[in-house]
Formats: sequence, C-alpha cells, structure tokens
Amino acid sequence: MKAVICGAGIAGLGLAQRLGAQGWRVVVVEKAPAPREQGYMIDFWGLGYDAAELMGALPRLKELSHPVREWTYVNASGVRVAGLDQRGFSKAMRGRLLTVLRPHIELAVRERIAGDVDLRYGRTIASVDDTGEAGSPVRLTLSDGTAEQADLLVGADGVHSAVRGMIFGPERRHLRHLGFHMAAWLFEDPEVHRLLAGRFCCTDSYGRQLGVYGVADGRVAAFAVHRTGDPSLPADVRRTLREEYGSLGWIVPRALDRLPTARDVYYDQMAQIELPRWSRGRVTLLGDACAAVSPLAGQGASLALAGGHLLARRLETAGGVQAALAAYERVWRPIVASRQRGARRGAAWFLPASPAGLLVRRAGIRLTALPGVSGLVSAALGGRPGVPLTRLADGPETGTLDGVQ
Ligand SMILES: Cc1cc2nc3c(=O)[nH]c(=O)nc-3n(C[C@H](O)[C@H](O)[C@H](O)COP(=O)(O)OP(=O)(O)OC[C@H]3O[C@@H](n4cnc5c(N)ncnc54)[C@H](O)[C@@H]3O)c2cc1C
Repeated sequence: MKAVICGAGIAGLGLAQRLGAQGWRVVVVEKAPAPREQGYMIDFWGLGYDAAELMGALPRLKELSHPVREWTYVNASGVRVAGLDQRGFSKAMRGRLLTVLRPHIELAVRERIAGDVDLRYGRTIASVDDTGEAGSPVRLTLSDGTAEQADLLVGADGVHSAVRGMIFGPERRHLRHLGFHMAAWLFEDPEVHRLLAGRFCCTDSYGRQLGVYGVADGRVAAFAVHRTGDPSLPADVRRTLREEYGSLGWIVPRALDRLPTARDVYYDQMAQIELPRWSRGRVTLLGDACAAVSPLAGQGASLALAGGHLLARRLETAGGVQAALAAYERVWRPIVASRQRGARRGAAWFLPASPAGLLVRRAGIRLTALPGVSGLVSAALGGRPGVPLTRLADGPETGTLDGVQ
C-alpha cells in the first residue's frame, strides 16, 4: 500500500512514522525547503502524549522539553498580579505534560521515522485526480512535475490546507474566525531569559496580551494575541505588532525591538476548521487541515499526532481504505468537536475583552491558589484524562467516547 501525505508538520510526520512502521510506502511532500525551525512553545499532553509514547518519541521529547513552573501575569511594571501553578496542571495530567517547541516535536517524530518513507521538501501537490472508484488509485502531479499514484492521499497541510481547497472547495466555507490575531517569534535576550526563571510570563491586560518564556537553548519565545473582528492579515506584520503591543509596558518593547525579519515571525488569524466531511474517495484530511482547534484549546499539536496514530491503526484493521477513513472520522470527529467547543468557551478567560473581564480572570486565577481548586481548574482546562488512545484507535467504534469532555 502507498500513501502520499501533503505536509511535514506534526500531523504529516506522525502519520508517516506510523504508516512506515506498518510497512506502507510513504511519500511526504512539504512546501518548505527544509524542516521548519521557526516555532513557538507547545504545552503537550493528552492523547498526543499517548501517541508520542507509542511511537517511542517520548524520551527524546522529554530531552528537548523545557519545564514551566508557573503562568505568571504581570502588570505594566513587571509586578506579579496573579499566577497559575503549572505543577498543579501537570499533577492533574498525572505528570504527562511537556512544554516543548513545535519544531522540536517535529524533530522527535522525524527521528522515529523508519521504513520506506520518502520526505520531499520544497514541493507541493499541483493537481489531484481521484475517481473514487474501488480499485483505482488516486493520481497526483507534484509541483516539480513528478507524477505519483497512491492508495491514499492525506492533506496534513495545516489550517490553510491546499488539499482541502482542491477537494472540498474554498477556505471561507470551512474556516471559523475566532476574533483574534496571533503572532509568535523567538529572540535572544539573556537578561529576559534570566528574569523569567522557568515561568511563562504574560501581560495582565485586556484586548491584547503578550507572553514570553525562556527556551532551553537560552532564547526567549514570545506569543502575542489581540482581539480583532477582521480576519484579513496586515501587509506589514512587524509594524502591526509594534502598533498593537507597543504600549503594554514591562519587557514588551524589548521583545518588539528584537522582532526577527517578517519571514521568521509567525502571524495568522486564530481560527478553527469545520467541514461536513473529512474524506472523499481516497483523499482524507488530518490535523489542522480538518480539525484545527486553535491555541485557545492548547491541544492542536497533541490532536494532530494522536489523529495520525488513530488513522494509521484504522487503515491497518478496517479492511480497506474507504472503511478505514469512515471509521477514523466516526471516532475522531466528536473528540475534535468537543475540543473546539471548549476552546470557544474559554476565549474570554484566555484574553478578556474589557477591564471587567480582566478583574474576573484575576479573581479566578487567585482562587486557584486555594487547596483543591487548582486541580479542578486544571481538569477543566485540560479535559479529563481517561480515554487512552489505544482504546480509541483499536477499540470498537461505538461506546469509545465515555469520559471525553
Ligand atoms: C502560537 C501557537 C501556539 C500553540 N500552542 C499549542 C499548545 O500549547 N498545545 C498544542 O497542542 N497545540 C498548540 N498549537 C497548535 C498546534 O501548533 C497545531 O495544531 C499543530 O501544529 C497542527 O499540526 P499540523 O501538522 O496539522 O499543521 P501544521 O503545523 O500547520 O503543519 C502543516 C505543514 O504543511 C506544510 N504545508 C502547508 N501547505 C502546504 C502545501 N500546499 N504543500 C505542501 N506542504 C504544505 C507546512 O509548511 C507545514 O509543514 C499552537 C499553535 C499556535 C499557532
């Protein structure tokens, strides 16, 4: 059996690893010229943690991770206003939580790839021809002119998926703008790194906020988010970032002074993807391409890796590609939908819209310091751990969702 996967992100690499281990021939087509180094910090737990463990990537992920002990909110002078103890969250996840850069998750997964897996960078898919008839392969042309035939094409090419566009139509039909723009970048500043001392420090502000944490290699990762009803992206992201965040005080002006070139700044609207179907014929979607939950959920990377595991297992056991795709979607879609709903519910907490909302968040965070409350908040943020990935991937399709939030 042969699969072509479009996108060498966490979803695409995770699926390639699993299918390679199952004896498939796999071609991964990635538009970036080489593995992407630009990235942001990921809180990685839940079903994706299970998937990383099953593929043997966990020891490497632990090595690359950088523990965070507290989410600290600071005022414009840098004084701590409130803090969430990350150790409480980790405890609620039974210690199965890592904070790690996105490119490092990709690295750890890539290192586990074995078998007949061909990673082709600097290429994309130019055209797809899928008759959907049983027994006929999907035919593809790559941007370098190469023709490929496969039993399965997987669009794992992220929230702005080109494969989704080719098969299911324009993005505007499937993308839900959540009312935020976000940016992330890495910069060198040993003094700020020292000041953070293992904390994720975030401005205690409404409408816009900027958070920073120190990375293991000494760099600082910045994550900025502001509210806007306009999904369109600015022409000059560096200028927009300076204008939006310049007045926040504390170390924010330093983080803005150290903005890298626009190419190395991640900037996008915050969005979720919702499609009535994820598969057609021999083509399916995986990860953010069909199931983007947004950083509000803090689980997109985890779901991308776990979804790939589940899809690979269903391809192994369902007795045919179409049956496997149907099973993948039946089991996985309700989990994604529940995480998407949870993310939307948490938007006002994540970034308050008004001074009153900010007061409510501050009070809520202070409450978490009370004995017993921290665990409850952590469970609410993270969802109940309880449905192991192996049960979702290998169990019956019905009755698998007990315990899913
Ligand atoms: C700032 C930020 C913070 C986040 N924090 C967390 C967190 O704490 N926890 C968490 O679990 N998740 C988090 N996420 C979400 C997580 O990063 C994503 O959900 C996850 O990376 C999705 O993986 P993916 O492989 O589906 O998509 P992507 O990471 O988008 O990868 C898609 C790949 O496809 C390639 N590609 C795109 N188009 C084409 C094309 N036409 N042809 C070929 N290749 C193409 C891209 O170059 C890329 O390599 C965060 C996201 C952001 C933006």
